[in-house]
Amino acid sequence: MIIGLPKETKADEYRVGLTPGSVHTLVGRGHRVLVETGAGAGSVISDQDYRAAGAEIVTHAGDAWAAELVVKVKEPTEPEYQYLRKGLLLFTYLHLASNRTLTEKLLATGVSAIAYETVQTASGALPLLTPMSEVAGRMAVQIGATYLLKTQGGRGVLMGGVPGVAPANVVILGAGVVGTNAATVAAGMGAMVTALDINHDRLKALDDRFSGRLQTRYCDTVNVRQAVYEADLVIGAILIPGGRSPWLVTREMLPQMRTGSVIVDVAVDQGGCVETTRPTTHSNPIFEIDGVLHYCVANMPGAVPRTSTFALNNQTASYVATLADNGLAALQNNQALMNGLNTHRGQVTHPAVAEAFGLSY
Ligand code: NAD
Repeated sequence: MIIGLPKETKADEYRVGLTPGSVHTLVGRGHRVLVETGAGAGSVISDQDYRAAGAEIVTHAGDAWAAELVVKVKEPTEPEYQYLRKGLLLFTYLHLASNRTLTEKLLATGVSAIAYETVQTASGALPLLTPMSEVAGRMAVQIGATYLLKTQGGRGVLMGGVPGVAPANVVILGAGVVGTNAATVAAGMGAMVTALDINHDRLKALDDRFSGRLQTRYCDTVNVRQAVYEADLVIGAILIPGGRSPWLVTREMLPQMRTGSVIVDVAVDQGGCVETTRPTTHSNPIFEIDGVLHYCVANMPGAVPRTSTFALNNQTASYVATLADNGLAALQNNQALMNGLNTHRGQVTHPAVAEAFGLSY
């Protein structure tokens, strides 16, 4: 099969859909990979790196899009709509439920579009969302540590403290993928860490893993208040699948929080778990209310594109190989990929997308 790798066109998107390692695997299986020149530049992968892996470098986006299977990171943007056509197999993040224009384009052109975010295994896991949660969770602590610096407007607290001086107190709301990764980095830096969740299994997993180096609390209002009032850094990591995050930290709690403390609300993309959260950007990431700094960037992994590209690719690679080997027929033997199919030959093929637009499914 011919596989196309266009350069991403969305603003501030520096990731790329395939690494040289994946290209090498695909070429080794007898496929051709057409890489648009400069596609990997944002992730510090050169055309020469791709060439060495066996790719062919093409000058125009249209040449990469002419392939049978196009692998990307983000949804097609308006300038890319011209390349959408019947028979094209598109594999990328799509988030169609919140994008009527693109949904209509994909339906009108007949593209078979598989969305990373809805590829779902039999156990209910979303393997192509996990790597970005891992990145965001680890990053949240790094970001929090930075904004705790006095020079950044923070409280002036060192994460690990020093002998004789207490370390930073880090409170993590939600002990899933983001929460666990945040806990790993915070504990690794020597901070005092408390994680709260309503799922006992998640708390137990953290308790087992950190054996005494981290405290867990059931997530009720009393425990949240107590933890947050004593925190230097609060990390919001709640997810209610398909729903809006609950506000665990309310507006009236802020004046009682430590002055110069920092909230990193990773859950901002689902509305946030702090009442005062509003989405911010990498170019203007922070705002302050009642002396509490808020960091609420909705695409945190975008700031570490090289790590994110490789993390995402590690998870997508086997699916790309299956699609390249078998085309659409791959979906018949792969329920996870079938769950990922959002549109096919003018039909919506995912219940959540159909429901979002009142379309038949
Ligand atoms: P996850 O499903 O692995 O974990 C979520 C956890 O929240 C679960 O353990 C669940 O039990 C817990 N939870 C649900 N309701 C709760 C409640 N009322 N009180 C306490 N705990 C509750 O999800 P994840 O992959 O860790 O993602 C967490 C959030 O981070 C999501 O909103 C996700 O969209 C977001 N996210 C944001 C970015 C970004 O760049 N900002 C990147 C990746 C993920």
